[in-house]
Amino acid sequence: MESEDCVFCKIVSGKIPSARLYEDEGVIAILDINPISDGHSLVIPKKHFEFLDTIEPGTFSKVADVARRLSSHIIKTGYAEGTNLFLANHEKADQTVFHLHMHVIPRRKGDGIEIGRWWKEISFNLEPSKTEALTKKLTFK
Ligand SMILES: [Zn+2]
Repeated sequence: MESEDCVFCKIVSGKIPSARLYEDEGVIAILDINPISDGHSLVIPKKHFEFLDTIEPGTFSKVADVARRLSSHIIKTGYAEGTNLFLANHEKADQTVFHLHMHVIPRRKGDGIEIGRWWKEISFNLEPSKTEALTKKLTFK
């Protein structure tokens, strides 16, 4: 399943070249061409799915597992000290390529990526009065 105008489908099929770090029957991992850190990579399912809510569960499990393995490889080899995994799901969450993908972002001391600072700036205490309503609204099976 390929979407004609999708840049990631073209990368999967080889119409657009990429630096491949990994490939199996369902998933590829490539270097991001606009990295935010050295080694910033993307894990991409070969089949075209736009969103987390439309991807086959088994396919998402494969994407997550390859991201886990790449992350472990980055750390075990000493290439970086840590990683962040990031996935943007829908435009409102800053998704820009609508073929689901997971970022693996190698992290090093002093790399200038200040997720911790940003997190502290925007986080807030969950008010006890909201907890019950939110729990009711978001509980799922
Ligand atoms: Zn695609």
